[in-house]
Amino acid sequence: MAQYTPMIQQYLRVKADYEDAFLFFRLGDFYEMFFDDALKASQILEITLTSRDGGSEDRIPMCGVPFHSAKGYIERLIAAGHKVAICEQREDPKQAKGVIKREVVQVITPGTMMEGAGIQEKENHYLASFEISGNEYAVAAADLTTGECRSAVFQSFDSALHELASFGVKEVITNGKWTLEETKQINGRLGAVVSIEEQESEIEFEPLIKELTHSLVRRAAARLYHYLHRTQKRNLDHLQPAEQYEIRDYMNIDYFSKRNLELTETIRSKGRKGSLLWLLDETKTAMGGRLLKQWIDRPLINEPDINRRLEIVETLIGSYFEREELREQLKEVYDLERLAGRVAFGNVNARDLVQLKKSIGQIPALTEVLKKISGKEVNQLADKLDPCTELYDVLDRALINEPPISVKEGGMIRDGFHERLDDYRDAARNGKQWIAALEKEEREKTGIKSLKIGYNRIFGYYIEVTKANLGLLEEGRYERKQTLANCERFVTPELKEKEALILEANEKMIDLEYELFSQLRGNVKEFIPRLQELARKVSEIDVLQCFAAVSESRRFVRPKFSKDRTMIIEEGRHPVVEKVLDAQLFVPNNCLMGPERDMLLITGPNMSGKSTFMRQTALISVLAQIGCYVPASKAVLPIFDQIFTRIGAADDLVSGQSTFMVEMLEAKHAIMNATDRSLILFDEIGRGTSTYDGMALAQAMIEYIHTNIKAKTLFSTHYHELTVLDQTLEHLQNVHVTAAEQNGKVVFLHKVKDGAADKSYGIHVAQLAGLPADLITRADELLHSFENKEEKPLVVNEGQLSFFDESVPVKEPAPKEDKSLISTLLSYDIMEMTPMEAMNTLYALQKSA
Ligand code: ADP
Repeated sequence: MAQYTPMIQQYLRVKADYEDAFLFFRLGDFYEMFFDDALKASQILEITLTSRDGGSEDRIPMCGVPFHSAKGYIERLIAAGHKVAICEQREDPKQAKGVIKREVVQVITPGTMMEGAGIQEKENHYLASFEISGNEYAVAAADLTTGECRSAVFQSFDSALHELASFGVKEVITNGKWTLEETKQINGRLGAVVSIEEQESEIEFEPLIKELTHSLVRRAAARLYHYLHRTQKRNLDHLQPAEQYEIRDYMNIDYFSKRNLELTETIRSKGRKGSLLWLLDETKTAMGGRLLKQWIDRPLINEPDINRRLEIVETLIGSYFEREELREQLKEVYDLERLAGRVAFGNVNARDLVQLKKSIGQIPALTEVLKKISGKEVNQLADKLDPCTELYDVLDRALINEPPISVKEGGMIRDGFHERLDDYRDAARNGKQWIAALEKEEREKTGIKSLKIGYNRIFGYYIEVTKANLGLLEEGRYERKQTLANCERFVTPELKEKEALILEANEKMIDLEYELFSQLRGNVKEFIPRLQELARKVSEIDVLQCFAAVSESRRFVRPKFSKDRTMIIEEGRHPVVEKVLDAQLFVPNNCLMGPERDMLLITGPNMSGKSTFMRQTALISVLAQIGCYVPASKAVLPIFDQIFTRIGAADDLVSGQSTFMVEMLEAKHAIMNATDRSLILFDEIGRGTSTYDGMALAQAMIEYIHTNIKAKTLFSTHYHELTVLDQTLEHLQNVHVTAAEQNGKVVFLHKVKDGAADKSYGIHVAQLAGLPADLITRADELLHSFENKEEKPLVVNEGQLSFFDESVPVKEPAPKEDKSLISTLLSYDIMEMTPMEAMNTLYALQKSA
């Protein structure tokens, strides 16, 4: 240490406290990075790596970014999953003795960004803390930009992880005592950064965690608040008390199923477009957009709550003109939640406050429109809106309509708001008038028509006279200040005196304006809880009007709920496929499952629409339970407690498991957790293994769900053999989706019909596809023989498939090696053979040996 210069020593001392962050060390107009930070940052940010003498033998690697453009660089580091500690100069360099005092003022991390490209208007930006104790897991997730915080307890690591994934957390805070495996899971499966916070003192944050009842949840939230304060180093008045929610109060959909159903993002692009959220989002405010996503992530299970939303949606659908008016007004409401957050954070300007004023200024009109609508629930919504009138008034009196961006250059406050400010302004304005008068007077006195009084930052006010006129000036009165090519500039004692007054007034004016602005910001701070409450109400109204708008434009109907597990969907549609396809082309389908009908076994060729049918059933239930109308002509639904899906190829590449293993894990998850109030969608289960293996598993699962779980289940399969199960399983029904021929081409009708698919549909499709006639005839022949002989084991003979029974006589079994002779022998199901068959088989084997 001693070998370094004092400044580098200071750097190293600060850096020691922020090992896990890039330290942006302020040096004049730059943030500099040194040593390893410099080596790494110069690569990530593609900036020049230099070096400087720091007292040691070797020069110290260094790179830097200009202060005024630092934001973009910081964002890039954060986006790459890093943290940045901002170290500022804390005293005036002119007054400093020795090294300037420096201090870290904020640590920016992936979970604690307040603005920038990483922050989406219509998306929350969560960071979470995660506690583990024995078999219990607690998660507390907060959005620093809006101040909300939610927490819950989970009974397994996996379900806690699923919740974190739904929150889309960018950063997870732990106590630092986790196993490597646990950390790896968070890193790998969530793509989140893991940060350590050792402190968890609950006393310090009692007001924020007072509503939490579970000790593990309290600890999780306390740790989270500690971390936020330790990194942000400022008052965070907008943080709201953490809420505890019970996962069993909501419909539970694990993260894989959410993704499979493409609720808020699509599987392929991971973007919004093409998801249910995308289809639904007719919200007009950023807050409403965020709430919509929260609702989709957590559908309700309490019927009165669901019906309350549906009731409002129905009323709004019936009030077209009021709704249109409402939408216009909502457009004018800015993001109150994030504005409140920035007020607390200390980075709002006068323009933000004018926006705030305009937004709350909309509330009275909004209330009035809602009152015009007749509907008890809607009127109740209107009653609860708090227009924060006092705040509106003070902002309106204080701020001009279009203030500048900077808060340190004045020009924000209205005339008449503050007496002393008005005096300064008068002085400044009078001063300017006086200067104009002086100019006129000097022109008359000297007779120089071109004489003028000007101002510049270095010399202040001056009298300018061209060289040709210099002789006309009175001796001794004019003091020369500056000589230019063809003129000279002077000052007089009177000019200097007035100048001092004007400049002083200006300076005081600017200081006073800043002071007044800070007071105003303080006023707003006191309103933060009321603004947040208002924001919640407005976003709820926004989401409900959005449901009404979408339900109307896409011809949705209001669902009803059954008590006896009846599920009747008539002419159901997949809302997203329908929108993408063009409504005319989409084929609606019924899904009829009375109280005694628990399972549909769906057969049909690939691409016929099996998985679309399954998904649309789940989406209709989700829509109903978030309180929206549904794409069908009639829907009577049970209220589902959970939805499980096993659809398509899962890509759990990180955990390194085979696709088949993932399939089995997801199936297990469903089978272990589903109840008779759940919905299960299994698409082509067992495809990932050999035929008999897969078919056996599929059948066993069907039987197990049918007999032990009794969940409503849609099970699609290409194992045609399973369709006979309807004879033994009383709650199972076969349905099928078929293809047809039109002008010699395969046409998928996408129509779901009762009964099993025709056995030969595969061959039929092959024929339509134009495979050689001989081949088709042979396939028909083979199919026929299988049908006559029930299921017979396949004999694998040196890579070739042959079928061992009378109708396909073994001409030359001819296993040449003993090994294959044995495997052929082993493959026979002797119990299924007649004595004659056994004799023949032995004879054939002997001949071939
Ligand atoms: P499967 O699961 O049987 O292989 P999909 O459900 O994936 O088939 O559907 C294949 C394609 O058929 C879909 O991408 C969609 O474009 C179209 N499709 C499915 N269902 C319908 C429908 N009911 N009406 C119109 N087109 C449909």
